[in-house]
Amino acid sequence: MHFSILTLFPNLFDSYLSDSIIKRAIDEKKIKIDFYNIRDFTKNKHKKVDDTPYGGGAGMVMACQPLFETIKAAKNKNKGKVIYLSPKGRTFTQSKAEKWSKEKEVILLCGRYEGIDQRVIDAFVDEEISIGQYVLTGGELPAMILIDSITRLLPNVLGNENSKEGDSFSKIFNRKKEYPQYTKPEIYENLKVPEVLLSGNHAEIEKWRMRNLKD
Ligand code: SAM
Repeated sequence: MHFSILTLFPNLFDSYLSDSIIKRAIDEKKIKIDFYNIRDFTKNKHKKVDDTPYGGGAGMVMACQPLFETIKAAKNKNKGKVIYLSPKGRTFTQSKAEKWSKEKEVILLCGRYEGIDQRVIDAFVDEEISIGQYVLTGGELPAMILIDSITRLLPNVLGNENSKEGDSFSKIFNRKKEYPQYTKPEIYENLKVPEVLLSGNHAEIEKWRMRNLKD
């Protein structure tokens, strides 16, 4: 899967992409991530990428020119959909992650400040996606969340292929939340593991687990 990230702050991604499962996925070429620094595409002599909003109001809006040029450059190399991370978008879900994990390419546009000029959305954006009903300073964390949740669904990315089948919100749980999990020891500070999980009776364990999924 090829992710192209359009951002003013590519360095924010460094630590997350350089460790653990995502790093391994990059090293093993399961995913490829490239960055387009929006500031590199501005024609403003002071390297400005934003301006004051028409109609007045606080804050700055990311302007058309640098964003049009950045998106065009990314689209030359990446034929995937353009996703704009935005609190105004449709809420991201596990079923969306599953759908996108079947795509080959995607372009993720990260906003900053008061957001981006609507004409960029009208001209290029295929989908606006929110990661929840709160406002962050930028689209970089939301982009990382999309990359993480999609990457772990790709074949042979997780150590144990079965582990993603039975996660919260997965189809086999009817999109419900996972049952409680326990590990050794059987008793810790007087707190016991439910008897049925120690029984070795797989049919009963399965029934208990299905009963303990949460809406
Ligand atoms: N003025 C905008 C509004 O009220 O909807 C908020 C802009 S926010 C401060 C700056 C950028 O952060 C947005 O352009 C978007 O890319 C990103 N962002 C903030 N919250 C987000 C969320 N919940 N989901 C996805 N992206 C978000």
